[in-house]
Amino acid sequence: MRSTSLAQFNVTRRRMFETSCRELCRSAYRFVFPPACPLCHGEVAATSCEVDGRLVTPVLCDRCSAEAIPPPGNRCQKCGVSIGQFIRSEKGCSTCRNLSYRFDCVIRLGLYDGLLREACIRGKSSHTQPISAALANLLWLNERVTLEAVKPDLVVPVPRYWTRRLTQSHHQAETISRVLSQRLQVPHARTLLHKTRLTPDQSELTAAQRRLNLRGAFSVWFGQRQVIGKTILLVDDILTTGTTVNECTKTLLNAGAKRVVVAAIAVVPPYRH
Ligand SMILES: [Zn+2]
Ligand SMILES: [Zn+2]
Repeated sequence: MRSTSLAQFNVTRRRMFETSCRELCRSAYRFVFPPACPLCHGEVAATSCEVDGRLVTPVLCDRCSAEAIPPPGNRCQKCGVSIGQFIRSEKGCSTCRNLSYRFDCVIRLGLYDGLLREACIRGKSSHTQPISAALANLLWLNERVTLEAVKPDLVVPVPRYWTRRLTQSHHQAETISRVLSQRLQVPHARTLLHKTRLTPDQSELTAAQRRLNLRGAFSVWFGQRQVIGKTILLVDDILTTGTTVNECTKTLLNAGAKRVVVAAIAVVPPYRH
């Protein structure tokens, strides 16, 4: 009995020692390499990047975060755009009500405007990959409760056509989905969804042309069994009209997924479509 108590005391003492060592190493590392904002290279306050005693990096500094994220306000429960304070949107807003979106809802960080727009544009380039990761962390820090409430089984990025991989080394949606899968501790199904053909740039097309342009452009090639009955968190960087994520959602639902929720960094306000 006495030897059991002694063993327990030794285990507790060892754990306390290990925790102290970890804390010391973390403090030393942060002293030598203080976390910096990937957008403005300014200092990041310790409180901004520590959650449950664990470091969450990279993140934007408090100044950039405050500028990038609009103050909390009413937003459409379906498509994520900002709406008037007293407008109800369980079945969508005036922008999305008639668009027959198949995904459940959009969880987003902010609107594609100002500093968030600049960060999204800069994050697309390969050498600024930390910006994309910081935006994903910021999304998680701001929408953690909503993201966890989804209880996704898989995190899936909106794919790009394989030839794009040759010309663009960084895929922002993939970086964001990887970070979210790590934070949520959910498998990252990076190659589950495929883009089957190269489609013309969407930016110059009308909403109807976009739908036509992307019809049948996505497919689940392998791992169909992985999808059946699952809740999927589909991730993209910017939502313009929602056509791309809606086409991806249709493909996933046709492959047997139970439901799809979309996560994005920014939603383009309707007046800029
Ligand atoms: Zn900054
Ligand atoms: Zn809406």
